[in-house]
Amino acid sequence: MLLNVARDDEGAPEIFRSIQGEGRNCGRQRTFIRLSGCNLHCVWCDTAYTWNWRGTDFHHERDAPGAPHKFDRAKETVQLSSEEAATRVLALPSEGLVITGGEPLVQRAALPALIDAIKAGAPSMLIEIETNGSIAPPPTLVERVDLFMVSPKLAHSGNEPGVALRPEALGAYASLPSAMFKFVARSPADVEEAAVLAQSYGIGAERIYVMPEGSDSAALSRRSRELVPAIVRHGVNYSPRLHVDLFGQKRGV
Ligand code: SF4
Repeated sequence: MLLNVARDDEGAPEIFRSIQGEGRNCGRQRTFIRLSGCNLHCVWCDTAYTWNWRGTDFHHERDAPGAPHKFDRAKETVQLSSEEAATRVLALPSEGLVITGGEPLVQRAALPALIDAIKAGAPSMLIEIETNGSIAPPPTLVERVDLFMVSPKLAHSGNEPGVALRPEALGAYASLPSAMFKFVARSPADVEEAAVLAQSYGIGAERIYVMPEGSDSAALSRRSRELVPAIVRHGVNYSPRLHVDLFGQKRGV
């Protein structure tokens, strides 16, 4: 089964080694593979090149009058077998792999073969999946994945709540010890919304990270200062967004 992988700025498959810029493993060296395709359409998505194809009518905040923020699907995507993808991952030695997107679980049927091919070459490799939490993880992934970093999308993302926040999927992640939660926030009200949502699923504060939305360093700093009082009040964790802070919108970093 082929994997749809995003391309980096040079057109190569977006498989790279860097530091994890977000969440529980922030600062740790990781290899990343960015998969293409997403079932949601967040208006501020910083990886819209994985889903916002020409010919679609999804709205994005970067749309300009007469010039919507669209991408050429054929140019932005490359198909790799799990063996090809694993070879590229294993060429970048690291203690952990982050499978990100897009939404990796759109391709959930292909992920066990990818993980098995990687584990065959690096049995101790830690496997993390970054997901929007709208698709419940199948048992074939639960048994292979060390960490699900689940990022449910709040109202400010522009998605329909019934599409972004699916009780059966969120309930499945909430019951998994290997799942942590990362909420993107633009305002203190978003922290409140995240806290209420998490409480309704019995997700403890120690499993929650709140991360500012923003596409440059100045926006992240300003938002962080606005969010921290609400983060402290709710006893949850703060997550920076180091890769955006350091590299802006560059791919493959
Ligand atoms: S879920 Fe993630 S990849 Fe999908 S549109 Fe939202 S921010 Fe982008």
